Amino acid sequence: MILKLLLIIGVITTVYFLFIKKKPLQNTTEKRNDKPNDMIECSSCGVYVEISETILSNGKYYCSQECASKG
Ligand SMILES: [Zn+2]
Repeated sequence: MILKLLLIIGVITTVYFLFIKKKPLQNTTEKRNDKPNDMIECSSCGVYVEISETILSNGKYYCSQECASKG
């Protein structure tokens, strides 16, 4: 009887841990989808910059004003 009980508890904890391990993984992927960070390569130096921080000049994206003036 006690052995059976331990077996049941073991199965329950295994299932419980499987669910706990799955949850954080789902949360991280959801967070990644919430924040789409579009990275764009600087046309001058090749550094990847967030699209909101780029400088658009002559239809090309640059990481800084300095790179934009260089071309
Ligand atoms: Zn640059």
